[in-house]
Amino acid sequence: MNRYIYLDNNATTRCDEEVLNAMLPYLNEQYGNPSSTYSFGKEIKEEIIKARKNVAELLNATEREIIFTSCASESNVTAIMNAVRNFPNKKHIITTKVEHASIIETMKYLESIGYEITYLSVDNLGRINIAEIEKAITDNTCLISVMMANNEIGNIYPIKEIAKIAKKYNILFHCDAVQAIGKVKIDVEELGVDTLSLSGHKIHAPKGIGVLYVKSGIPFTPLIFGHQEKNRRGGTENVPYIIGLGKAVELILNDDYKSNEKLKELRDYMEVEIEKNIEDIMIYGDLENRLPNTSSIAFRGVKAEELLLMLESFNIFVSTGSACNSEIAEPSHVLTACNADLQNYSPIRISLGKYNTKEEIDTFVKSLINIVNMIRKRG
Ligand code: PLP
Repeated sequence: MNRYIYLDNNATTRCDEEVLNAMLPYLNEQYGNPSSTYSFGKEIKEEIIKARKNVAELLNATEREIIFTSCASESNVTAIMNAVRNFPNKKHIITTKVEHASIIETMKYLESIGYEITYLSVDNLGRINIAEIEKAITDNTCLISVMMANNEIGNIYPIKEIAKIAKKYNILFHCDAVQAIGKVKIDVEELGVDTLSLSGHKIHAPKGIGVLYVKSGIPFTPLIFGHQEKNRRGGTENVPYIIGLGKAVELILNDDYKSNEKLKELRDYMEVEIEKNIEDIMIYGDLENRLPNTSSIAFRGVKAEELLLMLESFNIFVSTGSACNSEIAEPSHVLTACNADLQNYSPIRISLGKYNTKEEIDTFVKSLINIVNMIRKRG
């Protein structure tokens, strides 16, 4: 058994042993530059082609449509700035109030230079109202950007329907699919998205590798200029990490999403056990339509920050919101958008991963019951 119980897989995941082993030779012996023309670099190029093929297969895209980046934040910013630069006369963008910081902060910057941003509201289950998108569109709209799945509450959004609306009005559509990859089947053709971003470290590859899918035929201007990635993303390829990502994707393809059933079973079991043993709880999000691994759960009168610290003293790691926000004392923008009663019900986020076991969940629930009872008794 592990020395600790890690239940924060939406923040990041442990690098898979097979991924690590696939990467290691490219950190020392195979250190060539894939752009070199001699065989030492060429062999490495073949490995990058393989990784690109895997990602393309996972998304039902073509290899030409896959660009490797340094992280999904870079992919998101590239996609947004691409729309901005290609339609300089259109200064309106539609997004949601529950996007990741890399999207929200880019939008704030664009507002500061004169752009108008429509942030779509969500209801108290975190759902968006599609009709609001069509109402918000103007002749000035250059981009619609909506995430596929929310990192805090796990809601899955109707990307195909939104893409249809964007297409009807000839507006570019970007989708941040970071939390969905590996948990939800993604077929870019069927979805009809123009750009889509992914991150390696949410699927057991290392931190610092991302993907931007760019549909062939759409206008594209790089964020980082240079010759790599067919002139669309400069910078010498991060060979080991690209190979690691390719391996992580291969593992998802081989598993064919089967491990998600196990994840969902474990998450549902955990929620039932908590509900059976602790009174007055609240589970946030759209329970009918959320990621199989995520649970945003609150206990009346118990502050999430205190709960998190007490769980940590038992070597159990959960979070109170997205990792990127955890150092900011402000309440989560996602839960605020959901109009959550954070005074009485401040949630912890539990996000399971493929390494979690039933024994770990039992230990976690037992500790949780004791801590919540103790805090409530103390008052
Ligand atoms: N988008 C979402 C929904 C995320 O959860 C994250 C990471 O937490 C990102 C984007 C950013 O990914 P990266 O860490 O690769 O920049």
